[in-house]
Amino acid sequence: MQIERVETYPLLYRLPQAYGDANGYKRYRTSYLIRLITRSGIDGWGEIIDWLPTLHRGFQERIIPFLLGKLATDRLTITDVISKWHQRSAAGVSIALTEIVAKRAGLSVCELWGGKFHRQIPVYASFQSYREQGDWAESSIRFVTEQIRAGHKRVKVKIGGRSIAEDQAHIDRLMQSLPPDVLVALDANQSYDLAHARLWERIFWRYTNWMWLEEPMPLERTQEYVKLRAALSVPLAGGENLVSCAQFLPLYQAGALDIAQPDLQHTHGIDSYRTHLQMARQFGYRISPHSFDGGLSRLYTLFAQACLPAWSKMDADPIEPVEWDVMENPFSQLFPLQPVNGAVTIPEGAGIGIEPDWELIHAMRWDGSVYA
Ligand code: MG
Repeated sequence: MQIERVETYPLLYRLPQAYGDANGYKRYRTSYLIRLITRSGIDGWGEIIDWLPTLHRGFQERIIPFLLGKLATDRLTITDVISKWHQRSAAGVSIALTEIVAKRAGLSVCELWGGKFHRQIPVYASFQSYREQGDWAESSIRFVTEQIRAGHKRVKVKIGGRSIAEDQAHIDRLMQSLPPDVLVALDANQSYDLAHARLWERIFWRYTNWMWLEEPMPLERTQEYVKLRAALSVPLAGGENLVSCAQFLPLYQAGALDIAQPDLQHTHGIDSYRTHLQMARQFGYRISPHSFDGGLSRLYTLFAQACLPAWSKMDADPIEPVEWDVMENPFSQLFPLQPVNGAVTIPEGAGIGIEPDWELIHAMRWDGSVYA
């Protein structure tokens, strides 16, 4: 089980047309795949999303020399050391090591974790609503409609990047264009203060098909969240950038959120991510994971969700939905998996049960040039 080789695959795709949220526009998408191979020939894949020039250098000069010769079964100590250097790399390595152990045991990742509660996991189509062109609202509504026709039943769209009036006009038109059984979440990326966030109740009361309002205000304003949660008729969700379970705890204790949204890539690794999920479940909180960037970490997010007991006997869905990036991004299909009617069937088979798309990996290799 000694790690003998580490392969790295830095991948870059420049978007022909930028899209974005309240934080700005995305002009490229990247993926950094790593493949750890043991002396006995068992391999495990990991994924990290970060700026490739520094990430690649960090792997070549520090993380790969550290990994070589280590035992793949020492996942917790290996992840612990790397997370002190670079948290995202630790999360990526943690999944690669998990796959190796599962394959060695002849088990799927879910079996290794004790088996699935759910064979299928609902997903929601996640959109970046803004474009640089003047008719952004028009193209947003058209794009959402296309994805609904393709089978999605839940969507998340962005607000907070334009004036409240412009954003509300967009959302109002969108809601009128959607079938009433399509569920909708709005994500403001922490753009508002309490007074502005409350103005969204004017839109919420007109429709019934809401999932949640996501991060309307900076997340450290815990008491403002408590007040907003009491004032709104829709659930409040957040926490995609929080690293540890301990950072969620004050939000839980204050009653600031209805739904926690941890992101595997922003934690110290798959083990600490799963610990958080289990803790939230023990205390009866809903978890709808954030997973916008990266197909492989999304797959592990689905595995973790599959191994989580149902939140409530009353909910129509057996388990909370996972985010599904539907924007132009070739890397969301590096490990090919597609939802059918808004749900993904968990792959079976040893390890992750899916082979990567080698053609795509070779076609998208980053050439080492600096990009912005
Ligand atoms: Mg968000």
